[in-house]
Amino acid sequence: MKITRLRCEAVHIPFPQPIGHGMRGSDCVLAYLETDEGIVGEGFICTLKREFTKVLYEMVKSLEPLVVGLDPKMSGSFNAKAWSSVGFIGVAGASVMGIAAVDCALWDLRGKQAGMNVAHLFGAAATSVPVYASGGLWRSLSIDEVQKQADLHLKRGYRAMKVRIGNDPDDAVARVRAVREVIGPDVALMTDPHQAYGVAEAIRLGRRLEQFNLTWFEEPTSPENHAGEAAIAAALDTPIASGESVYTSRGILAMLQQRSADILMPDLQRMGGPTEFLKAAHVAEAYDTPISPHHLHQMSIALVAALPNAIYLESMPWFDPLYRDELELNAEGRAVVPDRPGWGFAFDNDAINRLKI
Ligand SMILES: [Mg+2]
Repeated sequence: MKITRLRCEAVHIPFPQPIGHGMRGSDCVLAYLETDEGIVGEGFICTLKREFTKVLYEMVKSLEPLVVGLDPKMSGSFNAKAWSSVGFIGVAGASVMGIAAVDCALWDLRGKQAGMNVAHLFGAAATSVPVYASGGLWRSLSIDEVQKQADLHLKRGYRAMKVRIGNDPDDAVARVRAVREVIGPDVALMTDPHQAYGVAEAIRLGRRLEQFNLTWFEEPTSPENHAGEAAIAAALDTPIASGESVYTSRGILAMLQQRSADILMPDLQRMGGPTEFLKAAHVAEAYDTPISPHHLHQMSIALVAALPNAIYLESMPWFDPLYRDELELNAEGRAVVPDRPGWGFAFDNDAINRLKI
């Protein structure tokens, strides 16, 4: 089997709810690796803002010469060349996201070539994985609406969920308390203020939140400030989760060396795809540190299934419209790892045609 073409599409996906800082949707760049045997590998990256879409589209497309002619089972040779090929513009930002789109499509293709799910290519350790509902409990909603959404998550079978909070500590405590009231003590609860606090404020708020037995307190402060994150992590009993904003396994290593978080959240897109993500997760394991991948559950589920230090899959509905297959929860509220070849979540090309820009 040989790759004949890297085809890219740009799409816009409206979000089911505004998420609290004015964002109502996201563009994505889809990568299709076409082959001489008709099998197609699928991957994607999100661009969030329309202004970034053209840049990221061109970045992905620029990598086409590295994959055309390649047998998918030699996908490592893409990785061996791609990182030095982007070296001039640096190994962070757009270049890494471009590599991620192609690497995601390559792993899908390898799975389809082997007739195996990507989780099984990696060597899965589980057939189902812990999952939390990440959407729904947005700070754009009133506390009443957030409680209704929390109840909806329970009715859908979730046994873990994340509530978003803002930069008002009293409102933050009220939101966490309100959700805990609805879900009771046995359902896992996480919170994420999206970097809203200074270090001292985050510690003070974190102390007020200790009573709610949170599974983690995510990105409490600027993720650029690893020393500050480390101070917060050292001060609180609640685990600090962070890492979605750093690039490549070296970004994760720097956080581990500075003990800036108790739980690391590598993002498939900012890692540069599954190949580099696995390195990041293994480095975290060497530091006895759990990980929870940042969103993209249609692909991240295979990584969670294969990584013993992965503790939770993030279920975020944003990109569901791209896919034919839905995430399935079992009776224990765990996400079922699909058996279907490739990622096991196939693009819905009719829907994609409607979403194209
Ligand atoms: Mg986050």
